[in-house]
Formats: sequence, C-alpha cells, structure tokens
Amino acid sequence: MKLYDSIKTLPGVGKVRESQLNKLGIYTVKDLLYHFPRAYQNRKDIKTLKQALDYGENCAMVLTVGSYPKNVVLPGNRMMTKFTAFDESGKITVSFFNQSYVKDIFKIGEAYRFWGRITGKNRTYFLSSPEFEPYSEKAVLLDYSPVYPLTDGITQKMMYNLTGLALMSADGYEDPIPEKIRHQFGIISLKDALINLHRPKNYDMLDIARKRFAFEELFVYSLCINFAKKNNSKIPRLPMNKVDIKPIVNKFGFELTDAQKRSVNEIYIDLVRGDRPMTRLLSGDVGSGKTVCAECAAYIALENGYQVCIMAPTEILANQHYNEMKAIFEDLGFSVELLTGSLTPSKKNAVREKIKIGNARLIVGTHALITDSTVFENLGLVITDEQHRFGVAQRAKLGEKAFGVHTLVMTATPIPRSLTLIIYGELSVSVIDTMPVGRIPVETYSINEARRGDLYKFMEEQVNMGRQIYVVCSSIGETSEDEKGEYLDVFFRMGDKPQSNRKKAVVHYEMLRKVFPKLRIGLLHGKMKASDKDKVMTMFSKGQIDILVSTTVIEVGVNVPNASVMVIEDADKFGLAALHQLRGRVGRGKYRSYCFLVSDTKEGTVARERLDVLKKSHNGYEIAEYDLKQRGPGDYFSSGGASIRQSGASTFNMAAMCEDMEMLTDAFSSAESIIKNDPELTLEENKIAKNYMLKLFEIKNNTVN
Ligand code: ADP
Ligand code: MG
Repeated sequence: MKLYDSIKTLPGVGKVRESQLNKLGIYTVKDLLYHFPRAYQNRKDIKTLKQALDYGENCAMVLTVGSYPKNVVLPGNRMMTKFTAFDESGKITVSFFNQSYVKDIFKIGEAYRFWGRITGKNRTYFLSSPEFEPYSEKAVLLDYSPVYPLTDGITQKMMYNLTGLALMSADGYEDPIPEKIRHQFGIISLKDALINLHRPKNYDMLDIARKRFAFEELFVYSLCINFAKKNNSKIPRLPMNKVDIKPIVNKFGFELTDAQKRSVNEIYIDLVRGDRPMTRLLSGDVGSGKTVCAECAAYIALENGYQVCIMAPTEILANQHYNEMKAIFEDLGFSVELLTGSLTPSKKNAVREKIKIGNARLIVGTHALITDSTVFENLGLVITDEQHRFGVAQRAKLGEKAFGVHTLVMTATPIPRSLTLIIYGELSVSVIDTMPVGRIPVETYSINEARRGDLYKFMEEQVNMGRQIYVVCSSIGETSEDEKGEYLDVFFRMGDKPQSNRKKAVVHYEMLRKVFPKLRIGLLHGKMKASDKDKVMTMFSKGQIDILVSTTVIEVGVNVPNASVMVIEDADKFGLAALHQLRGRVGRGKYRSYCFLVSDTKEGTVARERLDVLKKSHNGYEIAEYDLKQRGPGDYFSSGGASIRQSGASTFNMAAMCEDMEMLTDAFSSAESIIKNDPELTLEENKIAKNYMLKLFEIKNNTVN
C-alpha cells in the first residue's frame, strides 16, 4: 500500500465509511496519517479516587474490584452492570450500560486501570462506563492515547484501528523533506515521525515528531509559494490614481476609528505608489472592523477601473460579504457578483463569463474563485478574508493568480508574533489595535446545568427587548449512527464525552422550540444545502429569527450586530481560540452583549479555570498565549476544539505551537534555496518534494463548513 492510495484500500473501509472519512478531508492513506491527534491522554498520571474527585475530569485510576459484578435491568429494558471498586482513599460504584458481558471480565481482588470521570454527591460516587484494562506494575500499557478530531459516524476506536492498519501496512513513505536537509537539521524521517505521532511511547518522542511536522509545514509552504512565484519574475506595475474615499465612507454610517483610518491610509499609499504591487496584511482582533477597510481598498481599485475580488473561507461568510457589498457598491455604480462552489454549473459559467468580459467589477466568493477556469478582464486587487483558514496550496495558488496584482490579506488569527514574521515576512503589516468606540466588552459567564432555567429566562428577556441569540452546539447529530458507534466503542472511548451526551444542534433545536414556543427558532449546520444555509442566515440577519441554533459554521466572520447573546453548549469541548471567535459574533453593535459558556465542569477544576480565562480577557492574542502555555503533554494540539479542521490542506497547526523559531526559519529558508538552485525541481533529490507539492495543488473541495 502506498501513501497516495485511496483509503478504500484499507480493510473495512467501504462506501459509507469512505464518505464519512472524506468529510474529515481524508481521501488517501496519506490524508489519514496526516489526520493528527488533537490531544493525547496521559494515563501514566494515576490519581487516587479522592484526587480524581477533586480533579473533576477524565483521568486514570487504579482500582481493585471489591464486589461481584451484578446485572440489573433498568426501566426501558436497559441493562446495567455494576460492582464496587476501591483504592486506599475510598470506594466507588462502577457501572456499565448495555454491556452485560463485562460482568464476566472483572474478578474480585484484581486491579484494573480505569479511565473516566467521577460523578455523584452525598458521598455516593459513580464511575460510569469507564475504559479499563488489567493493571499490573509490570504490564506495558499505552500511556499516551491519541484523541482524534472526529465527525459523525467516525469514532475514536475506528480512527485508532485505521491509523494502526495504515502504519502497519503502508510502505514507500515518500518524504517531502530531502534527506540532505533532514540530515543537516536533525529532522527524523516521515515514517518515524508518523509512528511517534500516532503511537507515542513517551513525551520526548512525541515532541520530536511534532517538531518534524512543524518543520515540514513551513518547508512545504515555502516551497509552494516560491515555486508558484518563480515563473513570474517580471513584476508589472499597477499604479492607481488618487481617489476621494468619502463616497464610500459616507455609506458606512459611522466614523472610521483612528486605527482604521491609519490602516486605510497605509493601503492607499501602497496602491497609488504603484512601483510594485501591494502585499499587505491587515490584522485585527475579532470585531475590530476589518471589513470596512477592505471596502475602502476595493473602492479605490474600482474607481481606478480595476476588477477586485474578495475571497472568504466559507460560503456563509462569502454570502454575507456579498449581500453587504452589493448594497454598498451597486449604489456607487459597480456591479457585484457572487461566485461560490455551490452555484449550479451553468450559473457559475455565466458569472465567469461576466468576469471575463469585465461586466462584473467586484467579485465575492469562496475559493472556487481561484480555480483555473476563472479568468479576469483586468484584476487589480485581491483581498482574502480570514486568511488563516485557507490551506497552504490554496494560498500558494491564490498567490500565483494574484501575482503582480495588489493583494490584501486579513486575519484575526492569533499566532505567535515571531511566526507571523516568518510566514508573512514579505508582507507589510497594518494593525487595527482599537475597537470601534462605544463597544462594551461582552460579559462572559461559565454556567452549568443548574442554571439553565435562569439562562432561558434571560434569553427570553433579551428577545423581548428586540435582541437576537446564537446557541452553538459542538456536533450536528443528524443521524443516530454515531451514537450507536460510540456506545459500542466505550472500551476505546478516549476520554471524550460520548457524542450522545453532547448537545446536538438538531436535537437541541427541537428542544428549544418546545421551551420557547412563541419565539422564532432557526437551525444552521454544515450539512444543510447551501441555499438553505443562505436562507437561514439571511433571515437571521434580517431579524426574522430570534434564536439561531448552529454549529461552528458561524465561527468565522459572521456579523449580525443586533445579536446580543452567545450561548455555547459543551463549551469545554472547544479550544479557547474558537470560543473567542464565537464570542466575537456578539458585541458587534451598540447593545450590551453576553456570552454563556455552558458546561458541566466544576468550579475549581482545571477545565473550569481554562474557561474562566475568557471571563478575564477579551484579547485574542492574550487568550491564544494562555492556551499555548497551559497545554501540557496530556492535552496537546487541541486548539480547534470541536470544529473540524480542513485537513490535507491544513495550514500551520504544528508550526504555530512550535517554540523553536530557529528551526522554523531554517525550514523556510532551506525551501527557498532549493527552488533557487533547482527551479523546476528536476533533481533526483527533490523529486519527492515536487510530487508532494503538486498533489497539494490538486485542491479538494474542503471548505470548512
Ligand atoms: P472583523 O474585524 O471581525 O472582520 P467587522 O469588519 O465584521 O469585524 O466589523 C464588526 C462590526 O463593527 C460591523 O458591524 C461593522 O459595521 C462595525 N464597525 C466597523 N467599524 C466601525 C466603526 N468605526 N464604528 C462603528 N462600528 C464599526
Ligand atoms: Mg471579519
């Protein structure tokens, strides 16, 4: 089996499984092996029952079985198996549901290592459906278990088995980093790195593997952009004339902040200077008002007779930009067109034709825009929103298309500054470092089930005041398939709450309709048809929906200033950066806004402390920094939380976490010098790298949605 073989070549992967894996961006054996665990559980850290209770989270305990397991039939014909178990600090009831066979597994007086979370009160404590394995001092136990990002229908056990199979049977690990370079910088081979990442023996090995992929990410990225650039050594000039931007600013209905004025001015100077194309990064925290700056830039280019295209990473965001910009720019005399992947082929062709002959002036879209079949009449400016959400190849490809034209990229992603310098090294940077006046920081609360009643009362009050509300769930839950899977896989469940306990958007939506029969409730998730998504989002932004139940599809960029409440269910399942982004959906207008982080974490626990960071800080960079520092070996890489990342083309997951800046710089510059010495990558030693890169360019349809 080769790395680029389809995942269908793996035993047990049929049509259904294949399409589920596709949703995770997994198409080939390589994609599977590059679907990195988002966390590892450290099971070496064994807690006593008493410590485990205080800890309040999933953890490892070594307990001795104290009574014969008994099967009890519960109402609804459910079967519970229970027995007591103890250690030196106390006693507990262990229970399993619908797994009567475990009755014969546990023997009185024998010790097992359990993995789970203790619940209960009044001195009666339970450990329900834990994972377990026989324990002895000598036994070789897996101490770091991988925790994979999942999607409906795919369980941890499946991922574990599939990656195991792939690691065992794949051969021909073609390493994109040439041996010479690996040698020079002490980088381990691809195969070793993959084995250590999926099945780490200890923390050091994990760290070495992680460094390798950090190196690889930047190496490949640098290779891509330098390769894409090399054919365009003649830089055209695109000078623009001075333009009075008052007409567009007047449309906004507010004054630009000083930071916005400064940024627009910097962009303006780049454009009219005209000796070389602008390559500028506009950075600013969520809600700081990047969009209007982009609109000013677009206006200048349009007035100068150029076409402008604006790209967003999701269709929802593209639609939103389109609606907003259509209203502004058509009034100013420029035709605005939308180009996204979900348009019908004939519609797409019609739009492309308009772009080609120059009838479309401002084009808003997703990355369907950058595929080869779109030809512009006279493109002058390319703007990318939420730049960090685009994959390496997409960026490189865009770089190619946009070469010689002015480019503005916008991002709120908080990555370490030193890394920004490497990745965006060639870009000039404008920073919007203040919020529009009158913004009140979003009041943030962590609450648990006990407060749900109060929360609902509050939500109703807010709606009665005319406000709107987001309720975000971490999973969709359209099918019951994943549930069954998770129950059967309880043995291997890697500490994640089973999906079935999680609030699912679809179910939660039905529930809220009953709680608020008089309110207008909407549902939005990634599996809906694009046109339905669009309809719901439009209704919400027009105020025709009071409460929008959604998955993380709304995470990036969505802007409905009338929304004042963000409720995040199972908040502990999200990365802090994602929570900050989600919270950024409210507090965008003049209304006092609130964010409720609902979880069953207990006060005083690590998990709660983590959530509480959001209470204290409203600064994306600060929050990201905390997330990084706090991450120990037991909880690695988990930054995407419940949101499914683009994999395959995924960007700097590893590099962003890597503190070894020298190594990252090495990765970047060694790729640069390879292209310099071997522009077509024809040398034998660079063949694999080239192949690897070309595969990346075959962009898959993997927009985050
Ligand atoms: P982001 O930087 O996250 O992309 P947006 O550009 O979507 O933020 O802006 C967030 C909200 O702030 C929008 O509703 C926008 O109209 C508003 N806004 C932007 N600039 C100003 C300003 N100078 N004064 C008041 N409101 C503003
Ligand atoms: Mg934005």
